[in-house]
Amino acid sequence: MAQFDAHVHTAISDGTDSPAELVRKAHLQGIDIIGLVDHDTSESWNEADRAGSELGVTVIGGMELSTSYQGISGHLLAYLPDPENPELRDLMGKVIKSRHGRFYEMAVRLKEDYPRLELVEFEGNNLADGRPLGRPHLADALVALEYFPNRDAVFAQVLRPDSPYYVRQWAPHPAEMVEVVRRAGGVPVWAHPLSGRQRYHFPSEALSDMVDAGLFGLERDHREHDGQVREKVSQLAKKWKLEVTGGSDYHGNGKPNRLGENLTSTPVLHRIIKEGKIEGLLGNKL
Ligand code: AMP
Ligand code: FE
Ligand code: FE
Ligand code: ZN
Repeated sequence: MAQFDAHVHTAISDGTDSPAELVRKAHLQGIDIIGLVDHDTSESWNEADRAGSELGVTVIGGMELSTSYQGISGHLLAYLPDPENPELRDLMGKVIKSRHGRFYEMAVRLKEDYPRLELVEFEGNNLADGRPLGRPHLADALVALEYFPNRDAVFAQVLRPDSPYYVRQWAPHPAEMVEVVRRAGGVPVWAHPLSGRQRYHFPSEALSDMVDAGLFGLERDHREHDGQVREKVSQLAKKWKLEVTGGSDYHGNGKPNRLGENLTSTPVLHRIIKEGKIEGLLGNKL
């Protein structure tokens, strides 16, 4: 049976491994297929796919897209969309722009109390490339300056949504994002829908809109869902006739999540591949 970890990140977004390193680690751990879903970008696909072709690891190109419903933020996994689709690109461009504006504003606020934080570093980054900068990058900068011991501590103390340093980010409505992902040939899955880490979740009317828009599945098996929550997600999936997926949400050293700690079943993998569009990116195994 294929070992398919459908949710992993690289340093192109807020993980810490390069795409090639990530694939090598997956290979060493017996994971044959990864869903590579960096936040709001597809920049990691090519390098990972090249490494995967050499090692026999299949890379399913995807993204974890930011969305927002009535001020509540939620993540949408999109597998195998056409990254060149103009509508998707346009929406993602707007998200990245808003991400960078909000990121810089948070950095400015933090600098008042953590003066060794270098704003200019982030300015350069913003201008130099389209990397999706987020709170984890601020956390890493504050840890490197020894203001905090680790990412978790920074999140707990100054990066929480109720912290005075926090600035909200614009993102599209989740149902709009589902539609755009489908029009780009992708397969949309609502990521960690009832995450125990998030204080607020989308209400049921948001889910019903997402289903109408073409949602494929719900990510059930995820470290931020305990057994009871997984049961609840199973029930929702049954009610709305959705598939369920699982993944580690591996971020390298950025989080304790271990590669392969949650997996997606082979029948669901095959449905994702069937409904996704870009067969060329599937590497050498399927
Ligand atoms: P942002 O997109 O800037 O709002 O940041 C959200 C990202 O921060 C999530 O996708 C997670 O990867 C990461 N994150 C959230 N909470 C924590 C935490 N306590 N420790 C490390 N990373 C976290
Ligand atoms: Fe992340
Ligand atoms: Fe997420
Ligand atoms: Zn993730």
